[in-house]
Amino acid sequence: MAPKRDYYEVLGINKNASADDIKKAFRKLAFQCHPDHNQGDDSEAKFKEINEAYGVLSDDEKRAAYDRFGHAGVDGTFGQGFGDFGFGAGFGSIFEDFFDAFGGGGGHRSARRGADLHQKITITFEEAALGCSADIRINRSEQCSNCNGSGARPGSQTSRCTDCNGSGKVKRVQQSLFGQFTNITSCPKCSGEGSLITDPCPKCKGSGKERKEHNMKLKVPAGIDNGTNLKLNGQGDIGEKGAPPGDLYVAIEVKPHPFFSRDETNVVYNLPINFAQAALGTEVDIPTLYGNETLKVPAGSQSGRIFTLKGKGIQHLRRNAKGDQLVRLVVVTPEKLTKEQRQLFEGLEKSFAENEKK
Ligand SMILES: [Zn+2]
Ligand SMILES: [Zn+2]
Repeated sequence: MAPKRDYYEVLGINKNASADDIKKAFRKLAFQCHPDHNQGDDSEAKFKEINEAYGVLSDDEKRAAYDRFGHAGVDGTFGQGFGDFGFGAGFGSIFEDFFDAFGGGGGHRSARRGADLHQKITITFEEAALGCSADIRINRSEQCSNCNGSGARPGSQTSRCTDCNGSGKVKRVQQSLFGQFTNITSCPKCSGEGSLITDPCPKCKGSGKERKEHNMKLKVPAGIDNGTNLKLNGQGDIGEKGAPPGDLYVAIEVKPHPFFSRDETNVVYNLPINFAQAALGTEVDIPTLYGNETLKVPAGSQSGRIFTLKGKGIQHLRRNAKGDQLVRLVVVTPEKLTKEQRQLFEGLEKSFAENEKK
């Protein structure tokens, strides 16, 4: 058997996901895995995997155990087969959430929210450390400007839907992995509107939506790290009528810096110096995120020694604190010597040897 996938990965969420994010991710995946929407043979296996992940992550206690101990922390919670799974505690909520994924369950039908959008931006090390404002351009579905989202040619009449008699709802029998159930769903003919467009809007062909390029400024907070996702609520595709829009997720990629690297909120900087400087001591100008700083390297400093420039690091994302800049001394052995340098080193060597004898 293949090793179990990480539950967060299964649901496509990160470790900090809120209960709401988990529920949303589950609904979306459960919907995609439904046999009506998925022709693949592996949809049942996938569905089991999603259910198992959701069963654990939607339960605070199990989630905490899973976060601490991984699969071992929650093993035994779920059996191997589908028949073993779920008819204990927690099943009710999963069941409801599953039904909710189809807008069924309680007989109400909620219009589908807009799709989430994903975008990636690349920023510099300094921009990530100090914060910046980034331009992003997204292509998203918005309300059609010609018909204001109605889908009908402006000024045209609509007719009552004959399939649902204008109610917008129809009864429907569905097959699911749980068996058969009757579901009241939105009328597919009129999309729950109760009325039909007789003369569609020529711009959006009746969809009520149009795709538009949209430019926006994104405020990137100081201290953001490579691989972080920023979520912009409601900036995704427009939803169905009455439903909220999707969200926009912006993945942050931070370009590597030529000489700074990052360790949490500390900036790490390697300072190369030569033998003589290390032995005699020296003063060096060190670049920091906030301008140059003079560093005193005391005589007799060893390679690898770390000097701390307090508060010259990166802003902490969630609290008002800054890291430090760590300067690591790298004593560089010369690879080539001039004739004069060679003589000096030979003299030095002789002197060291005499010292040792004493
Ligand atoms: Zn339109
Ligand atoms: Zn209808």
